[in-house]
Amino acid sequence: MRVAATIDSVALAHNLGIVRQRVAGSHVYAVVKADAYGHGLENTVAALAGADAFAVACMDEVLELRAIDSRSNILVLEGVFDGRELAVAKADKLEIVVHSDWQLQLLERDGVEGIRRVWVKFDTGMHRLGFAPESAGDVRARLAALGIEAPGVMSHLACADEPVLADTARQMAVFGAVCKLFPGSPASLANSAGVLLHPDSYLDWVRPGLMLYGVSPLPEGNGTDFGLRPAMTLSAHLLSIQEVTMGNAVGYGATWQAPRDCRIGIVSIGYGDGYPWCATAAGEVLVRGKRVPLAGRVSMDMLGVDLTALPAAHVGDEVILWGAGLPVEAVARAVGTSPYELMCRVSRRVPRRIAGQVGMSPIKVSA
Ligand SMILES: *Cc1c(COP(=O)(O)O)cnc(C)c1O
Repeated sequence: MRVAATIDSVALAHNLGIVRQRVAGSHVYAVVKADAYGHGLENTVAALAGADAFAVACMDEVLELRAIDSRSNILVLEGVFDGRELAVAKADKLEIVVHSDWQLQLLERDGVEGIRRVWVKFDTGMHRLGFAPESAGDVRARLAALGIEAPGVMSHLACADEPVLADTARQMAVFGAVCKLFPGSPASLANSAGVLLHPDSYLDWVRPGLMLYGVSPLPEGNGTDFGLRPAMTLSAHLLSIQEVTMGNAVGYGATWQAPRDCRIGIVSIGYGDGYPWCATAAGEVLVRGKRVPLAGRVSMDMLGVDLTALPAAHVGDEVILWGAGLPVEAVARAVGTSPYELMCRVSRRVPRRIAGQVGMSPIKVSA
């Protein structure tokens, strides 16, 4: 197989267990938007069946999820976009977020019968989505007029992954004041960073995504610091090896020249598979347990690596882009992006292979 993302379902289940340990009595939405952060929805949902409910971004993702799971409760984090989507949400008994006046008007026009729960979202300082805290009384009254006496109340943390706590403390204070206006309502605030660093943010429902995949959102360290296990290993193979004499160039634009006589390996993955083009300058991959640097620009289907320090490498060897032995957090830092983006960008061309199923030996990815 040219390239594969091997997904460790035991790791996914283990990571959910870590969430549960940390949040004790809080309920857990497992966030599986963006095809389960690139891990493949179907296998991920099966591995995370122990969650209390799933959360996705939009109605298209609800339909994908429903095709494989007809029973679980689902929260739609961006809510519905129009009356047609609201009708589907009612028929399917979904939980929906209402973050804006236009959405509230839609509910007032069409009603909410069938909706399992409305979560009203407030902007407590991120300035992305949500009603202003000052409008809480008005929003509460409009929801009550719709027959919704105790809507869920939620917000989102902007800086929970940062070592400076002031921004998060300010957001939590604002959120606490809003929640007081909704007695009896369930409250939800924490994403992964909240679960990892801010026990005060757990409340009734937590909404972790990234950490379920074994990855840390923090600027330093990685998921294993918290006992998490990375669920995805992205791997490819050495297609060819050649000697390139000093001064000769490798790849498009001839941007990389051999600083000495080099042994160059060509790896069967490129930006068409979602491996970032911007890794060209600083990327490293793992071959035979050793990190080696990229050589030349990442192409659509291939990339070059400098194997000079690894004479044992030969054609057919597995190459790990991230995962076991090379944390995706480290790759993201080296190339100047986030692990969220790296994982979400793994393209449809990359087969997701499930490994670690109970009672089944892991699938070997080598050719
Ligand atoms: C994506 C998302 C989450 C999950 O965030 P992570 O950082 O991946 O844990 C939680 N809540 C909302 C509203 C989101 O959009």
